[in-house]
Amino acid sequence: MIRELITQKKIENASRMPDFTKIKTGVNEKAGRRKKRTAGADPEVPDDVYRKCSCCGKPLLNRDVRENFYRCPKCGGYFRVHARRRVEMIADPGSFEEFDSRMETVNPLGFPGYEEKLRDQREKTGLDEAVICGSCTIGGEKAVLCVMDNRFIMSSMGYNVGEKLTRAIEHSTEEKLPLIIYCCSGGARMQEGIVSLMQMAKTSEALKLHREKGLLYISMLTNPTMGGVTASFAMLGDVILAEPEALIGFAGPRVIEQTIGEKLPEGFQRSEFLLQHGFVDMIVERPEQKAVIAKLIRAHDMKAGRRRFARITGAELSESLKASAAFADASADNASIPDENGAESRAKVKAASRTEKSAETGHKAGVSASSKLSAWDKVRLSRSGDRPRATDYIELLFSDFTELHGDRAYGDDSAVVGGVAFFHGLPVTVIAEQKGKNTKDNLKRNFGMPKPEGYRKALRLMKEAEVFGRPVICFVDTPGAYPGISSEERGQGEAIARCIYELSGLKVPVLSIVISEGGSGGALALGVANRVWMMENATYSILSPEGFASILYKDAKKAAEASELMKITAEDLLSLGVIDAVIPEPESYNCESMDEAGAEIDRRMEAFLKEAMAKSGEELRSERYQRFRDF
Ligand SMILES: [Zn+2]
Repeated sequence: MIRELITQKKIENASRMPDFTKIKTGVNEKAGRRKKRTAGADPEVPDDVYRKCSCCGKPLLNRDVRENFYRCPKCGGYFRVHARRRVEMIADPGSFEEFDSRMETVNPLGFPGYEEKLRDQREKTGLDEAVICGSCTIGGEKAVLCVMDNRFIMSSMGYNVGEKLTRAIEHSTEEKLPLIIYCCSGGARMQEGIVSLMQMAKTSEALKLHREKGLLYISMLTNPTMGGVTASFAMLGDVILAEPEALIGFAGPRVIEQTIGEKLPEGFQRSEFLLQHGFVDMIVERPEQKAVIAKLIRAHDMKAGRRRFARITGAELSESLKASAAFADASADNASIPDENGAESRAKVKAASRTEKSAETGHKAGVSASSKLSAWDKVRLSRSGDRPRATDYIELLFSDFTELHGDRAYGDDSAVVGGVAFFHGLPVTVIAEQKGKNTKDNLKRNFGMPKPEGYRKALRLMKEAEVFGRPVICFVDTPGAYPGISSEERGQGEAIARCIYELSGLKVPVLSIVISEGGSGGALALGVANRVWMMENATYSILSPEGFASILYKDAKKAAEASELMKITAEDLLSLGVIDAVIPEPESYNCESMDEAGAEIDRRMEAFLKEAMAKSGEELRSERYQRFRDF
């Protein structure tokens, strides 16, 4: 009850005070920087008018603020943006067609004075309600765009807000369009009581149906996104983006402080805090938002992606895709998209030159000087700090990689890198274990030893890939999953088991490449694939030779001896059928000398994807089942 009263008061205050810094409940008083960063400038002021930045105190020309995406040109502080300005910033010029621009006033509780308040808000803001919805194109991609505006009763969610959003979601589902919602809200609209609460269920239900049709929803969290909006559509995005330093949470900071009787730390409930805790995929500055959203839409459009892949590689297209391709070409679909240019990756170009070269020299894949190396030599090589890391392969093989963060439950593990990218125009999901390049980087990456949240991020991205039909490409490089108290507390075994389990059933092509060290279950978590390849000097084993020796010989020093018996080299594993191919390495393998190996992977990956994309989900699954059933 107390909470409700506080929220009610908050909303009342909000409607009186256009500068929402004042209602950021407690955090501002303490966090001086925060108070400075968020200004309440009014973009409606004429262009040539000077006003003071409430962040740095410097005088600013209104035009300069507008041209700088409503950020202070002096200090970078974020100003509030009205919904219609947002639409201008995101939608292609002239493309926005608004839905439901006039809604009938509702007052479900017969709340005294509410209708007058709504009238007053409409006059002040020029908006019908706290959200505007419509269809548009974004970077040439068709979408439904909804934008909330917190000048209107703190953008709280009453019947009309929920109804407009739900109709927009339903429209995007019917028309098979991606959906983007710019969230911003104080939460529920108290004047509408329980009817306001029901909007959470209504919007969430509509989103569930949207996703079940394999359609994309991107949620963009802006300052502030709180209460019932956070606890419904704001947090349900396939991809969740956020503006820097936005306040995002369920309970308001003041409510939390009063409940626990403590001051909250600086940065609590800000975008960066949510990213760190695994709930936000990425924080995007305003000037980049449109491009990022357009790129994400393309990464989720498999039809267009498969047509591009077919154009670039000569892959076969199904009859239905051919038919839709004819239609799409007529409507100039994706004619000039950026990744088309990037589709000819560095490796692809090298691949062509390599084919000529190997024809001349008669070079055979998988056979080179290093096959003379002992297993122990290879163990040492595979652990070498000079070897290319997963991100080097990602940069070499793919274009437009967009990293997505978080397990949506606990944290974001830097030992696992994941996201979406394009391989010769085809959208793919990339998941990789990542070691550092130096000590500092290795501390950040935890030496490539994932924690449960790393595997749960991988799991989340695998499932997303399946919903949208994207192939999954995994890079394995880990000495093993992180053995720590916290890992066990959060269920390391369960997290790895889930990855193996879900990968086995995935109805999209899965390819896994062991690039350096493939240590135990922590490696297999990304290794249950249709094809598994290994770099020539990589190793893949049940545990480290040191661990093996200490268990079997009670002497870790006998690791070198153990390694010879363990069958851990690419050559051995190829003969055991554990892997399907060996990628040759040059004598000294590092980032500077990886082009040729990259070209070999590129060539094989293209062949694999051409073949695998022609198979049904069931075929891919049963092929994977049989591959591991045979052991
Ligand atoms: Zn400033």
